[in-house]
Amino acid sequence: MTPAELRQAIRNVPDFPNPGIQFKDITPVLGDPRLLAGCVDLLLGGFKPGMVDTVVGIDARGFIFAAAAAIRLEAGFVPVRKKGKLPYRTYEQSYDLEYGSSTIAIHVDGLRPGSRVLLLDDLLATGGTAAAAAQLIRRVGGNILEVAFFIELEALGGRKKLEGLPVRSLVQF
Ligand code: AMP
Repeated sequence: MTPAELRQAIRNVPDFPNPGIQFKDITPVLGDPRLLAGCVDLLLGGFKPGMVDTVVGIDARGFIFAAAAAIRLEAGFVPVRKKGKLPYRTYEQSYDLEYGSSTIAIHVDGLRPGSRVLLLDDLLATGGTAAAAAQLIRRVGGNILEVAFFIELEALGGRKKLEGLPVRSLVQF
């Protein structure tokens, strides 16, 4: 599997959910057994079982890749969710969106202190979501080894918000 094959399967949907947004629809990748498995394998990068304790995925499409990657790495999976969705006690982190703001949360006991964490999401745009997730992971004592994305929208410069962390993406637009 090459990133070029994955790139070809990503469907661009103009003006969804709002005018001017070029939405990157990954469902054609998810629905194809070979592409789905290839995408998960590529997201693992150089990580092998035993190198990562926990894969953290971001609500909601990040969950798909993070859970699959966790199984491959024989690691646990921990969700970072939108505020109000996790049932137990949480830490919350707010961040700015283009219009307004959003808040995400993690369970206070989500990670063992010192856990080696791989943070995964489907797409890096402005980087606000991933930067907030990284702050939550640090707050519960996690040690982030890498932040990996299926897709990166380079023009939005999201990497700058993740300064100091190794960032990797499979497909760039
Ligand atoms: P950001 O915080 O700006 O980096 O936005 C990242 C989050 O928003 C990811 O979890 C994506 O699922 C979603 N997202 C942002 N822009 C797009 C887009 N053009 N197509 C699909 N998803 C997007």
